[in-house]
Amino acid sequence: MDARFSEADEAFRREIAGWLEENLSGEFEAVRGRGGPGDEHALFEERHAWERRLGEAGWIGIGWPQEVGGRDLSLSQQVIFYEEYARAGGPGRVGHIGEGLLAPTIIHYGTRQQKERFLPGVRSGDEIWCQGYSEPNAGSDLANVQTRAERVGDEWRISGQKVWTSGAATADWCFALCRTDPSAPKHKGLSYLLVPMRQDGVEIRPIVQLTGDSEFSEVFFDDARTPAENVVGAPGDGWKVAMGTLAFERGASTLGQQMLFQNELDAVIAAAKRNGRAGDPVYRQRIAQAWIGLRIQRYNALRTLSQSAGAELSREAMITKIHWATWHRDLGKLAMDVLGLEGEVLDGAPYRLGALQRMYLFTRSDTIYGGSNQIQRNIIAERALGLPREPR
Ligand SMILES: Cc1cc2nc3c(=O)[nH]c(=O)nc-3n(C[C@H](O)[C@H](O)[C@H](O)COP(=O)(O)OP(=O)(O)OC[C@H]3O[C@@H](n4cnc5c(N)ncnc54)[C@H](O)[C@@H]3O)c2cc1C
Repeated sequence: MDARFSEADEAFRREIAGWLEENLSGEFEAVRGRGGPGDEHALFEERHAWERRLGEAGWIGIGWPQEVGGRDLSLSQQVIFYEEYARAGGPGRVGHIGEGLLAPTIIHYGTRQQKERFLPGVRSGDEIWCQGYSEPNAGSDLANVQTRAERVGDEWRISGQKVWTSGAATADWCFALCRTDPSAPKHKGLSYLLVPMRQDGVEIRPIVQLTGDSEFSEVFFDDARTPAENVVGAPGDGWKVAMGTLAFERGASTLGQQMLFQNELDAVIAAAKRNGRAGDPVYRQRIAQAWIGLRIQRYNALRTLSQSAGAELSREAMITKIHWATWHRDLGKLAMDVLGLEGEVLDGAPYRLGALQRMYLFTRSDTIYGGSNQIQRNIIAERALGLPREPR
């Protein structure tokens, strides 16, 4: 991909930058820069109102085809949107799981009725989604999912436990991987169900994290219900659909994530300048290395996106997760080292973290969620390099 932008792209950049400048003010001034990694709990209602404002202005689903209500913007314009959004301090999106994971899955695998029912709620910012994959005995070994769903009459009845479900406490819907045929081989008996979260059969128990917040929860399904038509793909095709969702996770928004990383790196550099560590050759090396790592991420993302293989994971995309996760974890360590003793002192009583401390604690999870580093290496070894499969 040519990483330069055209005149029309630059005009679009001015349009979105102007819109953000105008709209991230007044009642929305408070959400500027909030809700990012480690801060996901902050100001949910206000950020939900912001999500609706984005929806009203047509800034949700900008890459979706027009026939499903999107704007079908070019890849470079999507990149510009996410870059400008992060540059302006746009808040962490409460609708990102719906927009970035669920919607592409429905567009790719869903029925016409599913598109008509579920995409408008994502696009307007009204309906919030969470991802119900992991369970106590199914994380890296996702095919081991034990949550059962049984077809009874015109509905599915669901029982079992999910865990680490981000945003479950505020979600309206969950896309849950469930076992619908216990007699089939592990990968075959699964189905991808769309389950309403606000019903008697769903109990949500928040988990307290290192940052002191509870961004994720345990979710217990006890005879929860969803209509029969809320299965994406055929019953038994859940594994294929679930893997498609994970491939969409590496979409254009990764460029916006990199802009957030740039903001964090800038904060680390500012701290190093403030306390004099920027003059120390060891810190200068590490900061320069961090900057180089971020440039590499950018060019790899542009390369990956320009050869997007849809629901398939390209070789380049296989590198993406392990590279950014390791880079971000190391940035957290660099931030603490730059702060020195100051990093070990809390800003206020009893447990108020500074932005870099919060970032550091959150980055400990980067190499776990979305597929751990070890699993990424297995994927690269087996699928990109054709090495023998790991003994099971
Ligand atoms: C912040 C955060 C948010 C999350 N949000 C969600 C969410 O919204 N929805 C959801 O469904 N899940 C979510 N998760 C769960 C996440 O997907 C899992 O934690 C992850 O897949 C790892 O699974 P596990 O925790 O069961 O660890 P395990 O799979 O038990 O792994 C434990 C350790 O063993 C290693 N390991 C496992 N298998 C192998 C192997 N074959 N070879 C080498 N090493 C191996 C792992 O790399 C890891 O270091 C979230 C997790 C975090 C931390």
